[in-house]
Amino acid sequence: MAIQKGRSPFDRLKQMFDRSDLRCPECGYVDVEGGWRVTTTGSRVRYQHVCPKCNAIDTKEVRLE
Ligand SMILES: [Zn+2]
Repeated sequence: MAIQKGRSPFDRLKQMFDRSDLRCPECGYVDVEGGWRVTTTGSRVRYQHVCPKCNAIDTKEVRLE
């Protein structure tokens, strides 16, 4: 796979999470129309997804190099 230039690590991470893992860890519902809500705090990016079925909040945190 070719490396795409002009994309920030932030964009690449967002794309990675958008593509996969929108499955609720609580009830297993896959929210194919949903997306991650992204917030940044300094060198960290936090992704949150709220399950539309059971309202469980799935949080992932990624540290930018
Ligand atoms: Zn759920």
